[in-house]
Amino acid sequence: MIVVLKQKANREQLDGLISWLKSKNVSVHTTVGEAHTILGLVGDTSKLDIDLISALDIVEDVKRVQEPYKNANRKFHPEDTVIRVGNTSIGGGSLTIMAGPCSVESEEQVVAIARAVKASGATMLRGGAFKPRTSPYSFQGLGAAGLEFLKIAREETGLPIVTEIMEIGQLPLFDDVDVIQVGARNMQNFDLLKALGHQDKPVMIKRGLSATYEEWLMSAEYVMAGGNENVILCERGIRTFETYTRNTLDLAAIPVLRRLTHLPVIIDPSHATGKSWLVDPLAMSAVAGGADGLIIEVHNDPAHALCDGPQSLRPEDFDAVAKKLFALHGFCRTLGGDEK
Ligand code: PEP
Ligand code: MN
Repeated sequence: MIVVLKQKANREQLDGLISWLKSKNVSVHTTVGEAHTILGLVGDTSKLDIDLISALDIVEDVKRVQEPYKNANRKFHPEDTVIRVGNTSIGGGSLTIMAGPCSVESEEQVVAIARAVKASGATMLRGGAFKPRTSPYSFQGLGAAGLEFLKIAREETGLPIVTEIMEIGQLPLFDDVDVIQVGARNMQNFDLLKALGHQDKPVMIKRGLSATYEEWLMSAEYVMAGGNENVILCERGIRTFETYTRNTLDLAAIPVLRRLTHLPVIIDPSHATGKSWLVDPLAMSAVAGGADGLIIEVHNDPAHALCDGPQSLRPEDFDAVAKKLFALHGFCRTLGGDEK
C-alpha cells in the first residue's frame, strides 16, 4: 500500500502517522520527493482501513500496490535510485561502464587490463575470482587470491571493483569489495539473497537465464526486504530458441524496468551475445535505450583467455567502443525525455 501525503504535512503529523502505522505491524518506508512525501507500507496491510487513512487531514491519496515486489517498486519510490560507489555513482543519468576480464588470471593480467580500461573511461573494474562454469573441468577461478589481485588493481587505478559471490560462506571474503555480483545461476538462491540483504554493500543481480521480470524483481526484493536498498539489476541475455548468439539480449528490459522499478539497470552485451563483434552494436543500442550502464568483458589476449575469450574485447577495441558510448550517452541526454 502507498500513502501519498499532502504538501502541507508537517513533521509532527508525519511522525504521528508513521508510528500509528507501525503499531499496526507494517513497516514504513518514507520517500521524500520533490513534490510529495510517499509512505510505502510493507507487510500485512489487509487489515488497514483505506477509508480511514484516506480521511486523514495530511493524506492526499492511498493506493493498494498489486505487484508482489514493494521496496523495488517505482510506486514506492518514484525517483531513480542512485548508488554511490567510491567516487562514482550508478543510476540517475550517469553512464557506468564496468569493464575487465571474465576471470582474474594473475596480478599482472588484471592490473594491466584495469589500467587500460581506466584510460578508456571505464568507471569500475569487473573481474571474476569465483567462477560459475557449466563444466566442472573448466577453470573455476583463482578464488580468494583473485580477490586480492582485484584489490591490488583497485589500488593501482582507483577503480572500484565488482565481483561475483557464489555462496554465503564466501561473504567474509567480500568485506572489501565495492559491488557484489550475484550471477544469473544464483538469481534465485534465496538464502544468499537474504544474507546480502543483511549487509550494506551494493548488490548487482544478474537476470536468471529464464527469469521473468517479476521473478527478477522478487530477487531484488529479497535483498531489499533485509534492509539493503542498494540493488542494481543486470540484463545479460535470456534463453530462447536462438542458438547463433549465446543468449538473446532483451533490450525491452530497460524501458520495462524503468517503469516498474527505481533501481539502476545495467546491460551486459558480452554474456548476452558470446561474440566480441556483437558487443559494440548491442552496447550502443543499450545506451540509446536508456541503460544506466554496461558490463563489457575485456582481455589483453582473448585467444588465450581462461574464460570467455570469444566475447572479450581487446583493450584497443574497448577504447574505440567506450568513446562511442560516451558520445552517444551525451547526445541522448540532450534529447531528454526519459519515459517511465
Ligand atoms: C559473469 O558475469 O562473468 C557471469 C558468469 O555471468 P552470468 O552470471 O550472467 O552468466
Ligand atoms: Mn564471463
